[in-house]
Amino acid sequence: MSKVLVIGCGGVASVAIHKCCQVSEVFTELCIASRTKSKCDKLAAELAPNTATKLTTARVDADDVRQVMDLINAYKPDLVMNIALPYQDLTIMDACLACGVNYMDTANYEPEDTDDPAWRAVYERRCKEAGFSAYFDYSWQWAYRKKFEEAGLTALLGCGFDPGVTQAYCAHAKKHEFDTIDTIDILDCNGGDHGYAFATNFNPEVNLREVSAPGSYWEDGRWVEIPPMSVKRTYDFDQVGQKDMYLLHHEEIESLALNIPEVRRIRFFMTFGQSYLDHMRCLENVGMLSTSPVDFEGRQIVPIKFLKALLPDPASLGPRTKGKTNIGCIFTGKKSGQDKAYYIYNVCDHQECYSEVGSQAISYTTGVPAMCGALMLLTGKWSKPGVYTVEEFDPDPFLAALDQYGLPKSESRTPALVD
Ligand code: NDP
Repeated sequence: MSKVLVIGCGGVASVAIHKCCQVSEVFTELCIASRTKSKCDKLAAELAPNTATKLTTARVDADDVRQVMDLINAYKPDLVMNIALPYQDLTIMDACLACGVNYMDTANYEPEDTDDPAWRAVYERRCKEAGFSAYFDYSWQWAYRKKFEEAGLTALLGCGFDPGVTQAYCAHAKKHEFDTIDTIDILDCNGGDHGYAFATNFNPEVNLREVSAPGSYWEDGRWVEIPPMSVKRTYDFDQVGQKDMYLLHHEEIESLALNIPEVRRIRFFMTFGQSYLDHMRCLENVGMLSTSPVDFEGRQIVPIKFLKALLPDPASLGPRTKGKTNIGCIFTGKKSGQDKAYYIYNVCDHQECYSEVGSQAISYTTGVPAMCGALMLLTGKWSKPGVYTVEEFDPDPFLAALDQYGLPKSESRTPALVD
């Protein structure tokens, strides 16, 4: 019996809410809150006839701590699921602390305005210390560790697929397959086709910032940073086939390097088609990916926000997208003195996701783990005071829940390795 407040009602939140409504015995009451309440009302009306979960909706601007606190105090949830944007992570964490509620999200904090001088000063210092220049990193949310610990509350960070399930795969490999892990390659392949020349599969602003940034990987105890899209490999993915993939910076590398200290190298690769890359390069060259406001006919506009308004809404890709995703981790290391390789991954079909919950597989592969993470917190399987990433909890019940609720794992002990 639990009450959950979900903040955000976009592509990922919609899947997570669909899934929570399939587990009404745990998610007995759920409030869907977002900036645009009409979207929450529409989703609640669609789900209500087929679920025992009691659904309500609310309007909230989660950039405003006070508004989130007022909503929490009025609704009194056991858990807040932040499935809005990474920009709201800190305000929602602040509100949870002030009101004494557990917290979770699917992506680590980054500021909406990367020109903000106060943020910029910390960022520039951090770049020098840490050795990578991505706008997002865990330091902002790890700074809340002591506060959550002292309040006896749990904050679960980054519980989507990557970050999220990929870290549970790492915890699983460490627990069941290896004595020591030497290398981890995280491979994120989207073999889906939506028929548009250019569209992003999740929030365009967040997606394009991530992809156009320098890549980086962890090796021998330090970060190695490389120009954007400068390391390319080709991999033959199960049920998808051969795809080009590029090395990106990704947030889970940061926590995995800390939590699996013996690991020598961690890399993250994502597949991209040529059309996506050509469009992105062109948009970047003309300044359309900029987050800094420009003056246009007497108004200030942020180019990437304007671009977002032009691009297809990721939620609208569902009916058009065909094909599969394949996301997982390849490990090398040692077990009982022997060298060993291991690959664990999930394959998800865009059209099957659409027929089940009305969304494509990118939202599905993020929303299902968000529900399963909430399930772990609400049923007490993952509860310890503090701020944690997924690999810091027991992977067994979480992977069992993923198997049950739509993202079953596949395994290989003779995988092709990435050079
Ligand atoms: P969408 O843009 O589709 O949805 C975002 C939602 O958040 C919208 O409902 C929006 O409301 C709401 N929102 C935005 N700002 C505020 C605010 N200030 N107050 C309240 N609500 C707000 O994003 P996605 O669903 O694609 O992505 C959701 C999250 O999932 C993101 O953080 C993304 O980075 C993360 N993600 C994680 C992945 C993983 O594997 N870990 C993979 C993919 C995404 P409105 O419509 O009114 O603006």
